[in-house]
Amino acid sequence: MKIADVRVVLADIPVKRPHAMSFTTLRAVNFVLVRLTTDDGVVGWGEAACLGGPTWSEESAESVAATIERYIAPWLVGRDAAGIEALRIEMTRRVQGNPFARAAVEMALWDLNGRALGVPVHRLLGGRVRDRVPLSWSLAVEDGDAEIDEARERVAAGHRIFKIKTGAHAVAHDVTRVRRIREAVGPDVSLRVDANQGWDRATALRAIRAMEPFDLDFVEQPLPRWDVAGMAEIGRQVAVPLMADESCFSPQDAMAIARLGGVSILALKITKSAGIIGAMAVARVAEAAGMGCYVGCMIETWLGTAAYLQVAVAAAPVTWGCEPFGPLLLTGDVVREPVRYADGAILALDGPGLGVTVDEARLKEWTRRG
Ligand code: MG
Repeated sequence: MKIADVRVVLADIPVKRPHAMSFTTLRAVNFVLVRLTTDDGVVGWGEAACLGGPTWSEESAESVAATIERYIAPWLVGRDAAGIEALRIEMTRRVQGNPFARAAVEMALWDLNGRALGVPVHRLLGGRVRDRVPLSWSLAVEDGDAEIDEARERVAAGHRIFKIKTGAHAVAHDVTRVRRIREAVGPDVSLRVDANQGWDRATALRAIRAMEPFDLDFVEQPLPRWDVAGMAEIGRQVAVPLMADESCFSPQDAMAIARLGGVSILALKITKSAGIIGAMAVARVAEAAGMGCYVGCMIETWLGTAAYLQVAVAAAPVTWGCEPFGPLLLTGDVVREPVRYADGAILALDGPGLGVTVDEARLKEWTRRG
């Protein structure tokens, strides 16, 4: 099962409504898709989703494509596709950082191996421990009334968990949003807040305390990613649990956070952890440290969503649900048979590999030209 071909495709898919976060307002998601083909004709696909350039982290779709094409693809051709761990270690040696680029390639290796063996990726990860995962919808709407309408529509459609994106405006504005959303959805719906690094220590403390009356499940990444000491300090001063996202890329990051304490939940993402192996490793550190996990997203297509779902059903510490809602926000997709959502959850996929198949004609519609 030697790798015979590596193809990299850049694609851009607009979102149905602008998605407003502390660091950017998103109008389209930029994707890098990777197709690996073996000498006996088995194909595997991987994806990295980037939020409008190097905004969420240092990587952009363009840097991911360049890293794969120039520094991974040339040596990957001719290698045994069955050795995912060996190839992961070699990628780590040849490419410092750039976890999104390495994740897209590793994801394609998992897909390819699952297809070659005729089993879903979650079987290769130890089997699934759940058959559906509660799904969070992100509220990131600039107009306050439109945001309330969206929350009400989603509740009517069965959603029971919302994450409110904050940190782009003054604390008073975000507190008002949280209060209005709580009033609109009632007491039985879960609310979480994600500041995406948008506050400093004093602001975070003030904001979280002001939001405490609205019964939040957790506050995600209140501080800049480097301020893990600040997160530990604030975590000890507020009643709401804290979750680390941008501060926790690797298992080493997870270890450092666990040692400092104060954080209760780690967000898993395949791309930031350089692949499925890295994301599962972060989950194991969380488990060992008595923390829970949540599966985040970067607004993936059905392809990336299927990959995140494999982790969400296989990693036992994922007790806080997940948010791969990308396909519900994007105006189009690249996959033939969709991931299924029902009753506010995303349902496990049991087809071979990642469980979905990229439709090359659909991909062509969104492929970047020139
Ligand atoms: Mg986040």
